[in-house]
Amino acid sequence: MRLRPASQRQNLSDFVGKMSQGQPDVTVTAHPRLMVANLSRRFSGARAAAVQDVSLNIAAGRVMCLLGPSGCGKSTTLRMIAGVEAPDAGQIAMDGRVVVGSGINLPPEARGAGLMFQDFALFPHLTVAGNVGFGLARGDANKAARVGELLEKVGMLGFEQKYPHELSGGEAQRVALARALAPRPRVMLMDEPFSGLDNRLRDGIRDATLQILKEEGAAVLLVTHEPDEAMRMGDEIALMRAGRIVQRGAPYNVYNAPIDRAAAGFFSDINVIRGISRGALTDTPFGAFLTPGHSDGAAVDIVIRPQHLKIDFDRAGRGPNPTVQDGTAARGCVQRARFLGRESLVEFAMDYDGSRLTASVPGVFLPSPGTALWLMIRRDRCHVFPSVD
Ligand code: ATP
Repeated sequence: MRLRPASQRQNLSDFVGKMSQGQPDVTVTAHPRLMVANLSRRFSGARAAAVQDVSLNIAAGRVMCLLGPSGCGKSTTLRMIAGVEAPDAGQIAMDGRVVVGSGINLPPEARGAGLMFQDFALFPHLTVAGNVGFGLARGDANKAARVGELLEKVGMLGFEQKYPHELSGGEAQRVALARALAPRPRVMLMDEPFSGLDNRLRDGIRDATLQILKEEGAAVLLVTHEPDEAMRMGDEIALMRAGRIVQRGAPYNVYNAPIDRAAAGFFSDINVIRGISRGALTDTPFGAFLTPGHSDGAAVDIVIRPQHLKIDFDRAGRGPNPTVQDGTAARGCVQRARFLGRESLVEFAMDYDGSRLTASVPGVFLPSPGTALWLMIRRDRCHVFPSVD
């Protein structure tokens, strides 16, 4: 349903006002290109909502990555913003115009967002130039120039007259990107756009795509289940779980200040050292850790990523009868060591209780199983959470 311009303005100001007042989890930037507030969707027969109360803002030229495990509601969120799925509740505004809310639900073509999905096939009967120019008006005098400009940006000049079946996967992907960007969308919606590409191509295409998106200045929402992709592409990451956004922030912050154990574990393997908090301290085989905010007797998980577990080579030969722990380091026995290219992963069974810890060591380090080594923890890189088990 189309709305009269005057009521659109009214609705938008209500919407912005509502977002600024009542929604503490919404950061209202000066003029976000994409504004989403309290979007929810429950499929019929489902026990839980697929998307629950999702709010986000994206400014021009910024990329937000919606990251989360399979089934957490990322695609449903994107599809509601694109207009191919109807929300049960919530509001959406694009470029200062309400597209969903207060009885409005504009169809996808009236929203003007650029769409790029994993299976967003090119039109097989159109050439590369025909595909890229498809969304541009027939009489547009600048059509050929715009098509040429985009093909140059995606490195596909010279392919104008080829047909999709004559292209490789990576080439087709770049043409799809050019096609989505041709009408200069103010908002770009991308759902796992690189997942069909092999690893060798993917990084190059991701970087080129990011540069083009920045040049074009669209607000971009990119759905991915790969933390590496979100870290690489996103100015901001919105971490989703069971239909909700559970954490949002710059990649550095989301990685280094996870909101809970599951958020930490979504980005990398983690080690967990269990303890009981007493008087804001928790004793562990690696010494006492400050655990303020945890009540006396509460079980806590001290979480540490493998690269922040350090092997203390100096301590290896110390003393005739070293104990299994000395207050800052603890001894473990190598179970397995694997070389992964940039790093080696070494798995230990700890002497103090047999629990397993994994350390990541830069370069090649492949000690034999059975080797006893001392481990230390980068205390500034630990995260303490209430125990979940
Ligand atoms: P993936 O990364 O696997 O694509 P996702 O995070 O994008 O997952 P969604 O596709 O949004 O997840 O699905 C969220 C939940 O809603 C899932 O439990 C899914 O089974 C369910 N769902 C999605 N589409 C429909 C539908 N049309 N009808 C019923 N349930 C649906």
